Amino acid sequence: MMKLEEIKGVGSKTLSLLKKLDINTTNDLISFYPFRYEIIKRSDIYTLKQDDHIVIDGIVESVPNVVFFKRKMNRMIFRLNTGDMLLNVVIFNRAFLKPKLKINTEIMVIGKYDKIRGSIIASDIRFGRIGKKEIIEPVYHSTYGLSGSKIKKIIDKVIDDIEVINYLPDKLVKKYQFLDKLDAVYEVHRPTTITKLKEARRLLKYEELFLFMLQMNYLKLKKDKQIGIKKEVDYTLVEKFINDLPFKLTSDQLKAVKEIYDDLTSSRKMNRLLQGDVGSGKTVVAVIAMYINYLAGYMSAMMVPTEVLANQHYETISKMFEKYGIRVVLLTGKLKKKEKDKIVEKMAKGEVNIVIGTHALITDNVTYHKLGLVITDEQHRFGVNQRNAFQSKGEKPDILYMSATPIPRTYALVLYGDMDISSIKTKPTGRKEVKTILKHDKQIMDVLKMMYDELKKGHQIYVITPLIEESDSLDMEWIENIETNLNKAFGSRYNIASLHGKMSSEEKEEIMEKFKNNDIQILISTTVIEVGVDVPNATMMVIYDSYRFGLSTLHQLRGRVGRSNLDSYCILISSKETKRLSILTKTNDGFIISEEDFKLRGSGDIFGVRQSGDMNFKVANIKEDYELLLQAKDDSLEFLQEHDNIETIDNIYLKELLYRVMDLN
Ligand code: ADP
Ligand code: MG
Repeated sequence: MMKLEEIKGVGSKTLSLLKKLDINTTNDLISFYPFRYEIIKRSDIYTLKQDDHIVIDGIVESVPNVVFFKRKMNRMIFRLNTGDMLLNVVIFNRAFLKPKLKINTEIMVIGKYDKIRGSIIASDIRFGRIGKKEIIEPVYHSTYGLSGSKIKKIIDKVIDDIEVINYLPDKLVKKYQFLDKLDAVYEVHRPTTITKLKEARRLLKYEELFLFMLQMNYLKLKKDKQIGIKKEVDYTLVEKFINDLPFKLTSDQLKAVKEIYDDLTSSRKMNRLLQGDVGSGKTVVAVIAMYINYLAGYMSAMMVPTEVLANQHYETISKMFEKYGIRVVLLTGKLKKKEKDKIVEKMAKGEVNIVIGTHALITDNVTYHKLGLVITDEQHRFGVNQRNAFQSKGEKPDILYMSATPIPRTYALVLYGDMDISSIKTKPTGRKEVKTILKHDKQIMDVLKMMYDELKKGHQIYVITPLIEESDSLDMEWIENIETNLNKAFGSRYNIASLHGKMSSEEKEEIMEKFKNNDIQILISTTVIEVGVDVPNATMMVIYDSYRFGLSTLHQLRGRVGRSNLDSYCILISSKETKRLSILTKTNDGFIISEEDFKLRGSGDIFGVRQSGDMNFKVANIKEDYELLLQAKDDSLEFLQEHDNIETIDNIYLKELLYRVMDLN
C-alpha cells in the first residue's frame, strides 16, 4: 500500500495536519471513517414548493453564461433539461466549471427551488446522473485546519488500492455472516446502498468491540491467575471486630466483606472494585479489609486523591483501630521533611501497620515492609500509571479500588472489565434522604430565605459554583461576586469564606478546619470539596448553575450533606435543563442516577473531567451497540479459552495485539 507522503496532493503541510489527527499511515487514513452520510435522492419536482431544497439531474441545455462582478465574484446561468422540464440554473462563483458544462453533459444540481421563476439557485453541481437510486455521500469531520472534503479527496486517491488487516477469526466472520473486511472498508468510504453500508458498519463495530473485549478479558484472565499472598486469618476474629462496631453492617456491606475476605485468604491476587454511593459505608468495609490484612501480619496502604480526604480518613481510621493497638500513620506531601523522613523510616522498618496518604505514598523514596494490601479511594481520579506505580511497591499486594461514582452496567464492563466488583447498593438505615429542590435563577430570594432558615437553626451551608472553562480569573470573579452578595445578605451575622483552586493546600486546609469547627457558617467553593469531607452540621448545599454538571457529579456533591440525623437540603439553581435535573429531586439512588445520566448525556460527563481513552471507539457506540458489545464479550472469552496459549493463535495480528497488552501491564 502507498505511503501517506506518496499520495499525490499530500504535502508536508497536509502530512502534519494528518499527524494531529493521529493519522500516520495509509492504514490510519482509511480507518478514519466518515462521521455521517448525506443522502442525495432525486426530488419529486411537482410536489416541491417555493424555496424548497431540491436535488435534480438532467442534461445541460444551453452554454453557460458567466457574469463577473465586484472583482472576484461571478454568477453563472444555464438551462437544464430534466427530461420533463426546463429549468434555469443559477450558481455563484463556479465559473471554473464552465469548460466542463458542455451541452448535453449529464449533471446533478443541488440547491433551492425558485418555483415562481422556474429556476434553481444551486449550491452544488456534480457530474453524472442520480438515476433511480439514491446517492450516499460520506461526510468526514473537518478538524485542525483540514477540511472534510480534503480528507475525502485524499482517501479517493488510495481507496482503490488498499489493504486491510483482518483481525477477526474466520469462525466469527462466518457466524455473523459479516462482509469481507476489505469490502466493508470500501463500503464505509464509498457506500453503494444503505443496506450494504449498514452491514459494513456492523462488521467494523463488532471488530472494534471484539478487539477491545479480547484485551479486557485477556487481562482479566491473566489477573485471575496472578498468584498473590495467601493470608491465613480466622473469620471469627473478623466477626468479633464487626460485632464491636458501633453499628450493624448492612447486608451489602457484609457481602462485600465476605468477598474481600475470600480474596485475601485465597492464593489468587485480589483485584476488586468496591463501589457504592457516598455515605453507603465503604470506608468501614475498607477498614475491615485492612484489619484482616493486619491479622495476617501484613501492612496496608490507603491512597486518596486529596490532603483533606487523607486527613479525614486518618482521623476516623486511627480512632477505629486505637483499642486494637494497630499503628496508623499519615503520609502526605504537606508534611515537613523531618516528619516525613521519620515516617518513611518507620514504614521501611515495619513499625507501621497502616499508612494513609496522598500521592506521597508512591514517591520513590518510600518503601514498604510486607505490604499486603493496597486500597485506592476514588480510584478514577488516579491515572493508570499511578495505580501501577503503587503495585510495584509491594511484593504482590492485594488491591482494592473504591469508587463513589456508581457507573452504569454497560460501562462497568468496558471500564472495569478486568476487575471483580462488589457493590453496596443499600444505605445504612435511619439515614435521612437529602431533600432536593430545584430553583430558577429568578427565585434567588426564595433560596436566600431557605438558607437563612437553616442558619438560624445553627446549621452550616455549602455553596457550590461550577468552574468556568479553564479561566481561573473568571472563576475568581464569579466566586467573589457570590461572596459579596452572600455577605450583603448574611455577613453581619455569619462568617462566610470561599475555597478555590488557586489557594495553597495550607490555606484550603485552614478554611476547612474552620468550617469543621463551625467558625465559618457558609463555605463557598468550586468543586474542590467534591470528594470526602465530612461535616455533619452542614445541612444545606446550594449549587449555582447546576445545569453545568452531570447528574452523577451533582449526586456526589449533595452527598456532602445529610451526614447526620438532621434534615438536610440540596438546592439546585438553574435556568436551564430543569427536566434533566429534576431526576435528582426524585431519587437518591446513585445507581439509578448514573443510568439516567448515561441515557441523557452519554459517556462524556459521568466522570466529570475524566476522559477515558478506553472509550474512544471509532465506529462503535457502547450505548447503541450494547448488544453487540455483549456478544463480543462472550465471543472473545470463548476465543481465549480455546487459545489458552497465545502461541496457538494463527492470526498474527491478534497474537501481536495480545503480546502488547502483556507488555503494558
Ligand atoms: P463512604 O465511604 O461510602 O462514603 P462512609 O464509610 O464514610 O461512607 O460512611 C458514612 C457514615 O456512615 C460514617 O459515619 C460511618 O461510620 C457510617 N456507617 C457506615 N456503615 C454504617 C452502618 N451499617 N450503619 C450505620 N452507620 C454506618
Ligand atoms: Mg468514602
